[in-house]
Amino acid sequence: MPKSPNTIDGRLWDELRHAAGEGNVTHDLIDLVSYSYDASDHFGRPQAGVWATDTHQVSRIMEWAQRHRVPVLPRGAGTSLSGMTVPAAGGIVLDMNRMNRILALRVPDRLVIVQPGVVYANLQKALAPLGFFFPPDPASGSVCTIGGNVATNAGGIRGAKYGVTQDYVLGLEVVLADGRIMRTGSKCMKSVSGYDLTKLFVGSEGTLGVVTEVTLKIHPLPRHTVTASIAFEQLSDAGRAVSQIVQAGIVPCVMEIVDSVCVGILRRQAELEVPDVEALILLESDGQTEGEAVQEMERALAIATECGGTHLKRARSREEAAKLWRARRALGSIITRLRPSFSVEDVTVPISRVPELLSVVQDISRRHKVEIATMGHAGDGNLHPAFTFDRSNPDEVHRVEDAASELFKATIELEGTITGEHGIGLSKAQYLAWEHDATALKMMKALKRTFDPHGILNPGKMALDD
Ligand SMILES: Cc1cc2nc3c(=O)[nH]c(=O)nc-3n(C[C@H](O)[C@H](O)[C@H](O)COP(=O)(O)OP(=O)(O)OC[C@H]3O[C@@H](n4cnc5c(N)ncnc54)[C@H](O)[C@@H]3O)c2cc1C
Repeated sequence: MPKSPNTIDGRLWDELRHAAGEGNVTHDLIDLVSYSYDASDHFGRPQAGVWATDTHQVSRIMEWAQRHRVPVLPRGAGTSLSGMTVPAAGGIVLDMNRMNRILALRVPDRLVIVQPGVVYANLQKALAPLGFFFPPDPASGSVCTIGGNVATNAGGIRGAKYGVTQDYVLGLEVVLADGRIMRTGSKCMKSVSGYDLTKLFVGSEGTLGVVTEVTLKIHPLPRHTVTASIAFEQLSDAGRAVSQIVQAGIVPCVMEIVDSVCVGILRRQAELEVPDVEALILLESDGQTEGEAVQEMERALAIATECGGTHLKRARSREEAAKLWRARRALGSIITRLRPSFSVEDVTVPISRVPELLSVVQDISRRHKVEIATMGHAGDGNLHPAFTFDRSNPDEVHRVEDAASELFKATIELEGTITGEHGIGLSKAQYLAWEHDATALKMMKALKRTFDPHGILNPGKMALDD
């Protein structure tokens, strides 16, 4: 991985200021410290921060960076949970937040064209009055950016029915490592013209190029939703209910599972009236008619009840449903405050193997004596076991690390993936080779070299550098 020149001399900075434009480069300590973190516990300080303002400016900056072999890290809101937004090799952080315009809302074409710094929630606000939405729904939506969503292939609780970011990206404008500007994809609902470079960039964690424009497919907003929760005395019964609902051909737009630790939090800290049980399933059905949504929910609840579900509770109003989802969303942040440190994983398995994964997590927690709270988007097989611990206790840290590696190994044995949402970044770089065979890894490294021969784009991430 290239090391940022420790002593970038005054002439180089002058050149960068010239390329980026007056007022767009910062060396202020307060900025550099802010750019040193994301939402993980990794840290790395850059030598400068640069505000991106337009595609041609980004092109000039990349041309400068490649010429001088300076690492560049594109940054959206910095909410990565895997350290992918931490400058591991110094260099410059390229802050995309000022490129935040919605360029076109083309409802008859079912698409929008946006700059990468558009905040996810602002796009939804613009689309809702038109009766449309961008379906992937990361829980960080109030702050994260569309560029970040694209670079991480973000998903969320609606994934089972509506998919993830890659299902909606029609085309991109990208600035390559040497400053060339490239367009991928099209403005069409379908295209099989050439290799799919758009998909290659989705989820590439800022390691292949800087995304400067995104064309997204949009979806009509469902007019009706029905929300319910159902409790289970046994976690395994909840897991069985999930796979049987799916097997019956029912795809609720949300099917979340939470374990007993999370149930306790919902009862005590989120003030939700739920019974003291091993697991809860939270369900939402949607449709263009009320009948469609209600019928789907009835079928799902009948199966859940057959699998041992009790204390069935239907939300009687929008407010009640909103309270449930607020509490579910709050779980993550409450868990972060339970102990001094936490790490949340996003292991994902084929849906029928969710019950096995749940029992693996329980077993690992018991054997390694680590506290794990598990919640997850069970409808697409994606679980979030959250480890809570004290980083100042080396023994505990060691047990958590062992437990996490065991979790990854078991997930892969269940035909799963070590990351369904949060990406590889720094946190899981050492495990990438567990999941992919040597030939696949070689091809990934070859692609990285093709797009970024000098390894200046987000070096150190995904363990793909030479
Ligand atoms: C509380 C919380 C809840 C979360 N919930 C979810 C969830 O439900 N689902 C989910 O998928 N994730 C979730 N995340 C993780 C994170 O929010 C997502 O990965 C999100 O997509 C990151 O967006 P961002 O703007 O913060 O990107 P950043 O963290 O700034 O960047 C992420 C990566 O994208 C790259 N990048 C950013 N912009 C560009 C660009 N223009 N061009 C090229 N590369 C770029 C960066 O280099 C980095 O590698 C959550 C995080 C938090 C803190």
